Amino acid sequence: MTIQQISSFAAGEWIAPGAGARNIASAITGDVIASAGNNDLDVQGMLDYARNVGGPALRKMTFHERAKMLKAVAAYLGKHKQAMYDLSFETGATQNDHLIDIDGGIGTMFVFASKGRREMPDGHVYLDGDVEQLSRNGTFLGQHICTPLQGVAVHINAFNFPVWGMLEKVAPTLLAGVPCIVKPATNSCYVTELCVRLMLESGLLPAGAIQLVSGGLGDMLDRLGMQDVVSFTGSAQTAMKLRSNPVILENSVRFVAEQDSLNGSILGPDAQPGTPEFDLFVKEVQREMTTKAGQKCTAIRRIIAPENTVQAVIEALSARLAKTVIGDPRLETTRMGALVSNGQKRDVLEKAAIIGQEAERVFGDPDAFDVEGADAEKGAFLPPMLFHCANPDSAERVHDTEAFGPVSTIMGYRDVDHAIELANKGLGSLVASVITHDPAVARQVALGSGAYHGRLYFNNRDSMKESTGHGSPLPHMVHGGPGRAGGGEELGGVRGVTHYMQRTAIQGSPDILSAIGEKWVPGATEIKADAHPFTRRYGELAIGETMHTAARTVTLDDIEHFANFTGDTFYAHMDDAAAERNPFFPGRVAHGYLLLSFAAGLFVEPNEGPVLANTGLDNLRFMKPVSAGDSIKVRLSVKKKTQRNDEYGEVRWHVTLTNQDDELVAEYELLTMNAY
Ligand code: NDP
Repeated sequence: MTIQQISSFAAGEWIAPGAGARNIASAITGDVIASAGNNDLDVQGMLDYARNVGGPALRKMTFHERAKMLKAVAAYLGKHKQAMYDLSFETGATQNDHLIDIDGGIGTMFVFASKGRREMPDGHVYLDGDVEQLSRNGTFLGQHICTPLQGVAVHINAFNFPVWGMLEKVAPTLLAGVPCIVKPATNSCYVTELCVRLMLESGLLPAGAIQLVSGGLGDMLDRLGMQDVVSFTGSAQTAMKLRSNPVILENSVRFVAEQDSLNGSILGPDAQPGTPEFDLFVKEVQREMTTKAGQKCTAIRRIIAPENTVQAVIEALSARLAKTVIGDPRLETTRMGALVSNGQKRDVLEKAAIIGQEAERVFGDPDAFDVEGADAEKGAFLPPMLFHCANPDSAERVHDTEAFGPVSTIMGYRDVDHAIELANKGLGSLVASVITHDPAVARQVALGSGAYHGRLYFNNRDSMKESTGHGSPLPHMVHGGPGRAGGGEELGGVRGVTHYMQRTAIQGSPDILSAIGEKWVPGATEIKADAHPFTRRYGELAIGETMHTAARTVTLDDIEHFANFTGDTFYAHMDDAAAERNPFFPGRVAHGYLLLSFAAGLFVEPNEGPVLANTGLDNLRFMKPVSAGDSIKVRLSVKKKTQRNDEYGEVRWHVTLTNQDDELVAEYELLTMNAY
């Protein structure tokens, strides 16, 4: 049998394994199938290449350009996923597991591509929050901005998700504009290597955007500086060792950790046997125990059920677990494959024995179980094992020992507060789930337990058809947890991108803020164009381009007409005495929507032109009422432009309405689609 040589990709070159290479065994047969690692890898050369070649190339691109790049890379990987599936079986993963790892990884990249286009600017600076008023007259303002770190992100990944584990970190990093060096866990690095080869082969990434270390990192971490980031997934022990590296501490290198987690799932007190929630709970727990043979950072390790349902849960869960066909993951009948290695299997058995000191094994015998299509002695197979802990209050190991395999412990609770106490005994987890149809229970758990978990997942009969599963981290939602889970945070939409950027508070005049943020700020210089802005195409409009309209007087007839025409005869517009009794109005006033309509009438250019559609209106505020006899005028400024496609782009206009005394009457942002 040929042994695959798993290379690293360093400074634009593939480097084959060399001195210090480690053998990698098949999870199914135990035979050596690959070799990876090279002590002579030039890690300083890799860091230099990322910092000097990859970083500048990525930073030159806008967020939208990088988002488009991610979308194209994800599509390319999607076309070649069969090759990754074929290889990934060797890690013990089934076809269903591939969907989570490979399709899930590609899907995550697509979501970041889409969020980058929709939620980030087509520019180089990401604005965090609104402008802060720091002065009485508005000549000195504040704004938080994010710009890409100018170093390199070193991603150290766990063995369990060789593709998703990489892509969930790579996507936000590249979108931020930061190059990365990926170091997968050696046990499954051959799948990651193929995925990196595909990404490079696509020709879509600039040189230096991604490099790969197959095998050990050498002393790379000793060479990191203040512009670099380490994002780690793996064991608490390794995280502790790496994050306490003196160079990392001295240079305040960002260290994002996602490590052990004793995730709990609570069955609500309302979810008694016979309810849809009870069945759902059993199904979710069984799925979490067996998917990826339980090697999931989010898997349910602790099952927390009302005391009076514990026996029923054990019976129902055991019945489902008994149907789990264990075997060669390539077989269609197999529901649970192997653990990644025999070393991992030994580790799980050791941890299960520790849990066994405080809990009784009520399902699954590691010495007696069937394996289909493979040799149970040679491959890293284990059956699902369910433990019952009768005294969860005095127990400690069941709350702190992560058996990273198909192992879970059930424990009973007396009331919701007790369930919360048990869930929190994990001292920080990635996710806790609550299966309940009672919103009051959900709220009690959220308040009592939220601070201990990175994610709370609620499910019941109303959401179960569309829910995404306790164990699935979603690119839109935060992944990471406090305490034992590492204290890190990944994903969570654009939040995940900002972990690779520096947030800087900017203070200065409106012109300075407008120039930096590529967005017009009220008070900044107005640009006057010769033609009406609605006659100018998307590309011709400049940020800050402004028009001032003539004034229009609002009459009582206008108010009466609008009221009768629309049916909005609210007393404040119709009844002087009643309006006067209202603390907001001096007497009868014009409708706010009448003012908006008049404003449109004042600024619109009626002829066919580049404005294709009015697509919305944001942040509308009415500041001062307008009475009959008052007049209004409008200022319309180009605030921000966002390209949508090759034909048109969105223009965000800042609109203010002022009265005859120049007092602000209303303010809003108008959105139009303008032809290119
Ligand atoms: P490790 O912590 O041993 O390894 C995680 C990553 O760190 C791997 O890429 C590993 O590389 C790398 N690594 C280890 N030592 C160093 C070092 N000195 N310098 C740089 N990189 C290093 O975890 P495993 O993947 O082996 O899993 C072991 C246990 O971790 C599991 O049994 C489980 O308990 C826990 N785990 C928890 C996860 C979670 O998210 N909750 C996820 C995965 C694992 P290499 O493979 O080459 O050693």
